[in-house]
Amino acid sequence: MAQIITSKKAGPPRINRGNIFDFLQSNPNNVSPQDAAFIRVDGKQISRAQLFSDARRLAYGLRHTLGLQPGSRIGIFSPNSTAYPIAVHAGLCAGIVLVPLNAAYGSQELVHPLHDADVQYILCHHALLPVARQGLELANIGPISANGRNRLWILDEDDELKKGEQGEEDVRILMSEDELETHKVVNPVEEDAFIAYSSGTSGRPKGVQLTHSNMTSVTSAALITMGEDLTHKDRIAAVLPFNHIFGLAKYVHFAVMVGAPAVVIPRYDLDVFCSVIEKQKCTLAFVVPPILVQLAKDPRASKYDLSSLRYLFSGAAPLGSELSQEVEKKYPFLRVTQGWGLTETSPTATVVSYKDYRKYMGSCGTLVAGLEARIVDDNGKDVGLEQGETGKPGELWIRGPTIMKGYLNNKEATDDCITPDGWFKSGDIAIMRDGYFWIVDRKKELIKFKGFQVAPAELEALLLSHPKVADVAVVGVYDDSQATELPKAYIVANAEGKRDGAEALSSEIVEWTAKKVANHMRLRGGVELIDVIPKSPSGKILRRILRDAAAEKQKKN
Ligand code: AMP
Repeated sequence: MAQIITSKKAGPPRINRGNIFDFLQSNPNNVSPQDAAFIRVDGKQISRAQLFSDARRLAYGLRHTLGLQPGSRIGIFSPNSTAYPIAVHAGLCAGIVLVPLNAAYGSQELVHPLHDADVQYILCHHALLPVARQGLELANIGPISANGRNRLWILDEDDELKKGEQGEEDVRILMSEDELETHKVVNPVEEDAFIAYSSGTSGRPKGVQLTHSNMTSVTSAALITMGEDLTHKDRIAAVLPFNHIFGLAKYVHFAVMVGAPAVVIPRYDLDVFCSVIEKQKCTLAFVVPPILVQLAKDPRASKYDLSSLRYLFSGAAPLGSELSQEVEKKYPFLRVTQGWGLTETSPTATVVSYKDYRKYMGSCGTLVAGLEARIVDDNGKDVGLEQGETGKPGELWIRGPTIMKGYLNNKEATDDCITPDGWFKSGDIAIMRDGYFWIVDRKKELIKFKGFQVAPAELEALLLSHPKVADVAVVGVYDDSQATELPKAYIVANAEGKRDGAEALSSEIVEWTAKKVANHMRLRGGVELIDVIPKSPSGKILRRILRDAAAEKQKKN
């Protein structure tokens, strides 16, 4: 018999509320349409009325000027800006599926999502136009669409309308006088809102299909579970990227739903983050553990008055209790909690609430409303949970309305991670006590550098194309000083590589990789030469052996 853990919060979240764009305007806290929804770093505000009206006007242009139909897909390739949420809401309003592209991607990394999701147009920050142009070229997608329009549109928040060197125009010229009526989502559990790329438990990035129902459910669950922790009285320092599901769901959806204005920080920088909090009196921020390390240890943070902050909520990577306590000690006016989830769970599946911040240190919390969980062994059998005891470790499985529809164009990968009765296998190893979970290990290949995904399979495929590499395995090695994993490659050199010597070849490979991949994928954990990559009889890399060896070596250094 399965041992199912259910959310303690009354649920279930309503999942069939049609288009998420309308649901987000239900305004449970009764905030004024004139209140700010998003605020630029220079203080200029976008009101809620303007957000929704601009979104409808852009939606009209997307449908009637570009001829896009509900279900067609557009990419967004931009760092954070106040224009970003308008574009997201416009797509949702029009029933167009959004493909958030990591702004750190190089042109090569764009190729797969552009092809896989059949992206018709890209709304692109002007600084990223050269990368996007090259990405389209590498993907063999012509720069002009079937109806004679440039595929690239500039998404920018500067006051002046921008123009690109190759005929690209500003998205704002697509905004019509008319506002589009919301596209009626007839089947919210089938119609996609986003395709977000994630490597899942193994292999290369896959398109996670998140439906209108997934996003409505996760927002509704957040409202039930965290509706007292984040309210319209808060002011958020929005520092995490909107192109990651954590930022998207929290700032572009949840904050808009509760009416909390978000100050939009284009890219994380400690000084900018702290000065925004100080100047704009922010009360709350969603963060990742490396930001907490800097707040705790970097002397630059001490220069700022951060006393308006009351709450930091961490996610996307493991957060140990020592670090949260260190931050709370230095800033006694604030509380640090965390949540856990994956792109595939839309994302937040467990949270430690504001009230509970000291209850179970290091825990990633209890299930959000409407979700169920199991902890199972390698054979899919429940590990056994005794009341009041800490259970044995096992893989955390989640079921509920926030689980993705599946991986786009990849039924095999979908079937591998979702059981026929709806359990999603997270690939994270957890223990549980009294409904609280602790993530203690990871069963899957994934490496996380400062909250960003690094898919070992992607780096391994690249490294195998190096002329001096015979075999390779990439694993994560944890760096305490930055509270993050670093990608490290174990390499078997061929005869030519061996002639160079270990040191020279290692540095050559680190530099060679840095030129070819996005910043977060660099081999910051280094390159080590070994004689043979440990593999199972079926040829699977035995990553655990390499991870343990890397951790051991790290300890000695
Ligand atoms: P992503 O799809 O990029 O959000 O990555 C999801 C993965 O990030 C999870 O499967 C975990 O391995 C990791 N993760 C997210 N939140 C936490 C947390 N609070 N503690 C430990 N790992 C986490």
